[in-house]
Amino acid sequence: MTQDAIRIEGLRKTYAGGKQALKGIDLAVPEGSIFGLLGPNGAGKSTLINILAGLVLKTAGKVTIWGWDQDRNPRQSRAAIGVMPQELNLDPFFPPRAALEVQAGLYGVPKKDRRTEEILEMIGLSDKAEAYARTLSGGMRRRLLLGKALVHQPHILVLDEPTAGVDIELRQMLWRNVRRLNQETGMTIILTTHYLEEAEQMCDEIAIINHGEVVARDSTANLLGQLDAKTMVITPESDPVTLPQGPGITAERREGGLIALSYRARETSAEQVLQLIHTQGIRLRDVRTEQADLEDVFLELTRSTPAA
Ligand code: ADP
Ligand code: MG
Repeated sequence: MTQDAIRIEGLRKTYAGGKQALKGIDLAVPEGSIFGLLGPNGAGKSTLINILAGLVLKTAGKVTIWGWDQDRNPRQSRAAIGVMPQELNLDPFFPPRAALEVQAGLYGVPKKDRRTEEILEMIGLSDKAEAYARTLSGGMRRRLLLGKALVHQPHILVLDEPTAGVDIELRQMLWRNVRRLNQETGMTIILTTHYLEEAEQMCDEIAIINHGEVVARDSTANLLGQLDAKTMVITPESDPVTLPQGPGITAERREGGLIALSYRARETSAEQVLQLIHTQGIRLRDVRTEQADLEDVFLELTRSTPAA
């Protein structure tokens, strides 16, 4: 049985102005997973992550990081986690090498155990190690933030919107690194992202939060599988005069002589759709089904929830 890298129970956050950003979150992140935290803007993702990072004080609830209660064992729980924040809050005075050394010092990493050069190499900043932070590009600063999150070799790496507004090359570099850390060191990764396609490709498990509440929590595969709306796209041998019609099946023409048949998987099977096509005398040259993607799941789950 795998244990939980992070366990969150009844977590609430009300900001000073009265905004209820988290309304009682229960969530467990399995050790060794790449876990995606998804949700629209303002859902509470950064609040949750900043509480994990110890940057925001929770209003109520319990947070356990790597088995350590955040309140009773703040030092141990902090040592277990490295956070790359959403905001670029880099000290403009430190070049990358010095910034990593200072960060390692803050975490009490002894000089002999520091991995400064290795991290510089990994984030592609070895040749910029002495450059002033203000001369670094936005992408380089983000890479440095990732490096800073890693100086104390945490068990858990948390990335808050690491690829928002970042060019393709840097995104790919980030994901390569994240995958490698996960596979080679077993590091648990938690990330938030706006790019659902990215979450679909990267994450084993996903929680969707909306208005400070968890509205879905499952493996990525299950989330994608739970969508009820299905579409079968057929290429008929010859264009039928009338479109196939049947209960619970909606047909429409698509470009290139294709016909799309939409149905609800709970009510109609693919077999029934094929039978309908057959009984209407349509011969098939080709048939394929369209998979729902995370975007569909996301819209379905966040659409119906009333605003706070
Ligand atoms: P997300 O990261 O999912 O976009 P946030 O956690 O940043 O969401 O914000 C959740 C809600 O809390 C939003 O309504 C936001 O305006 C509010 N909020 C965030 N930070 C603060 C703060 N420091 N003070 C007051 N309200 C805040
Ligand atoms: Mg955020």
